[in-house]
Amino acid sequence: MFDILFCNADIITMCDENPVIRGGYVGINGKHITYVGNERPEGKAKRCIDCCHKVLMPGLVNTHTHTAMSLLRGYADDYALNEWLFDKVFPVEARLTEQAIEAGVTLGFAEMLRTGTTSISDMYYFQPKAAQIALDCGIRASFCNGIIAFDADAFNPESDRGVTETKILAERFHNAGDGRIKADASIHAEYTSSPKIWHFVNDMADKYGLNMQIHLSETKNEHENCIEKYGKTPTAILAENGVFERKAIAAHCVWLSEDDMDILASKGVSCAHNPISNLKLASGIANVRKMLDHGMNVALGTDGCCSNNTHDLFEEIRFASLLAKGTSYDPTALCAYDTLKLATVNGALAQGRENEIGRIKCGLEADIILLDLSSPITRPYYDPISAVVYSTSGRDVYMTMIQGKILYENGEYKTIDIEKAIANADSLATKITNGE
Ligand SMILES: [Zn+2]
Repeated sequence: MFDILFCNADIITMCDENPVIRGGYVGINGKHITYVGNERPEGKAKRCIDCCHKVLMPGLVNTHTHTAMSLLRGYADDYALNEWLFDKVFPVEARLTEQAIEAGVTLGFAEMLRTGTTSISDMYYFQPKAAQIALDCGIRASFCNGIIAFDADAFNPESDRGVTETKILAERFHNAGDGRIKADASIHAEYTSSPKIWHFVNDMADKYGLNMQIHLSETKNEHENCIEKYGKTPTAILAENGVFERKAIAAHCVWLSEDDMDILASKGVSCAHNPISNLKLASGIANVRKMLDHGMNVALGTDGCCSNNTHDLFEEIRFASLLAKGTSYDPTALCAYDTLKLATVNGALAQGRENEIGRIKCGLEADIILLDLSSPITRPYYDPISAVVYSTSGRDVYMTMIQGKILYENGEYKTIDIEKAIANADSLATKITNGE
């Protein structure tokens, strides 16, 4: 007896030996995938979902975001980077309240579930609050507070907010929700702290057994200032100080040297490639093909909504593929299947969740999405992988399941009061941006 049986689905498994099953079946029991195959399995199901004209695939993994920033969607477009950050973003962030965070995070999670993202890596403030919301709404998430300390001498771990939040995350939320929620340690970036702080965060990560999240070589300025300051690239100086001695996600990696790529590959560090944010803030274009050729794991992220302005990871998938082709003058530089890996298996590996999610395979947890490809936008389709990478968007997502639970289906949210979430976000956005 299955809890749920998906019938007659075009399945993208993301398993290399058998990546697509046409008109197949996927059975779910509890939180696990217990059947995948061409034939209808023996036994009944409490619920059968007919998947005619639908593609079934693993939920997408967003390895770099600041979910609460969804309140700032469209708030500050078309500014130069410094003006954007110092005149627009920082003053509003200074006014954020727990209520505003709750509104932003809830809206962001609703958008992610609606557009097929099932697992995220999130760096921001008020993270215990965000973790509680994630626990309640059912999304899978790894939370961190990126520690910033411009003056190492003034850094006091007893009163530092990043340290306090990291401890709360580690002690109360790490592995909560049957492993769905995780705490990560985080150094915000090389240029916002210094070696003393990095060693402190390393020790904290080791004490609690946490992975690391960091921004790395996002802009040319940041990369070159580091070389001027330390005589080394951000990757080299952070590696020398032990930051990559544990599983880590490095967001952006736009300005890496080839030596940097070798270091990160040898340390098993994953890049969170954020093509749209990097384009919108004119930071540059990360060289995904080269990072993969150097043996790095590359995954995808949206970054915050103030530099994107959406959490729809299908857009990042298409941009990642097209940018790799266009910048190399080689249309074979990143094929559809390899691009889809960035958003699924590679994302799972980046988060240390490769034995939980990322593929449609017996024994893995059931983080599954269904895309409705019956509209004229996606007809006809010859190859489900091509359709998903080049023709669809998150708006085609019909159903989102995490740990075997359906959280969104055909316009209906099961765990979020969507009308209230939108009303709250609208009202809090006005409050924080007007300084009320
Ligand atoms: Zn970021």
